[in-house]
Amino acid sequence: MTSSRLNYFGFTFLALLLSTLLMAQQEEDKTIPAKKKQPYLIILSLDGFRWNYPDQIATPNLDNIAKNGVRASLQASFPTKTFPNHYSIATGLYPDHHGIVNNTFYEPKRAVIYKIGDNSKVQDGYFYGGEPFWVTAEKQGVKTASFHWVGTTAPIKGVLPSIYKVYSPKPTGHQKVDSLIAWLQLPIEHRPHLITWYMPEPDGVGHDFGPESEAVHRKVQELDSLVGYFMDEINKLPISSEINIIVTSDHGMQEISSERVVLINQYLKKEYYQQILGSNPVYNIWAKKGYIDSIQYAFTQVKGIKCYSASTIPPHLHYMTNERCGDLVLLADSAYSIQMNKITIDAKEGTHGYDPANSNMNAIFFAQGPAFKKQSKLVNLQNVDIYNMICKIMNLNPAQNDGDNDGILLLQ
Ligand code: AMP
Ligand code: ZN
Ligand code: ZN
Repeated sequence: MTSSRLNYFGFTFLALLLSTLLMAQQEEDKTIPAKKKQPYLIILSLDGFRWNYPDQIATPNLDNIAKNGVRASLQASFPTKTFPNHYSIATGLYPDHHGIVNNTFYEPKRAVIYKIGDNSKVQDGYFYGGEPFWVTAEKQGVKTASFHWVGTTAPIKGVLPSIYKVYSPKPTGHQKVDSLIAWLQLPIEHRPHLITWYMPEPDGVGHDFGPESEAVHRKVQELDSLVGYFMDEINKLPISSEINIIVTSDHGMQEISSERVVLINQYLKKEYYQQILGSNPVYNIWAKKGYIDSIQYAFTQVKGIKCYSASTIPPHLHYMTNERCGDLVLLADSAYSIQMNKITIDAKEGTHGYDPANSNMNAIFFAQGPAFKKQSKLVNLQNVDIYNMICKIMNLNPAQNDGDNDGILLLQ
């Protein structure tokens, strides 16, 4: 009797001890993120914000980030269009390697066209190669959130950000900031540590009125004020000193004119091609069988335009190995435009898509926070180098990519 009572008490004691230890372990698990101080990083992209607008226009809030951290002139990847470049920043891969080879392209394996306005394609993970940083993060246990960033609404490798918003032009910048701030106040187990957000300007006004216009001037100042509001709200948070901030863009903007336009239907006969997709100044051509040489020959003497095949494309463009690029790529020289039948460009307008060697295609890059150095020197950076930098800040193992360590050199 005594021995069984003893056994009973012994067993109860052991069970109590075990459950206490287990609870202590669970408590510890809950507090691991706080203990390890998982870093915070927020990345804002202002579409089409050319690298030198802040030198031409008063941008006190961006200047302040540069003063507290770093500033670079960011070289975009080819073609210098919105979707290819947001996704190059995300993956560290050139568009040729990640598969979003233009804003609109033909996918021969499915015989379909991917278009930025077509949600059934934009939200289909099939189209997106490589591994964007939010997928790298989620796979390694870091919660991410996004208020509009190319690729964040498609399950890529089966993974979506913990929080995301389907693209719409409606939300204002202030609404986006307010959402971000709300996410940063979520209980720690739901709180994202890596956040992206996006504003579609000053790209729109840059297209309509040209990069040197008064409209761009005003829009840049308005966006700088939004950055000011964002920073003020961040600074009110108890975790503000732990937050890293990047403000960047996908590409710059080039002034164009009705004086420098190549009308391609003057050279390209209907019987030469099956499909031509893209927008000024870069198009992908799918030739009809036997007509690749005829198309190239048709453009050899045309001023202001180049027609490249996989064997003639300059290596620094890193393009044309992906079958989605088509047989040929038609690219206007800087400041020239390509239109199909008639000139519709009036007075001064703007566009992008040119060779990234044209410095007007460079974008802004400003960053501050505990991970960043404080340095006044303006440096050059390629957008494929951002992925490795993000992984380093967030303590993530990077996936294979085309970037090098130049971004990491900006870190403490
Ligand atoms: P573009 O200047 O032609 O390269 O493209 C800029 C346009 O892309 C913007 O004005 C937006 O309307 C559109 N855009 C940007 N991000 C997205 C997105 N995530 N989903 C759909 N459209 C987008
Ligand atoms: Zn853009
Ligand atoms: Zn644009």
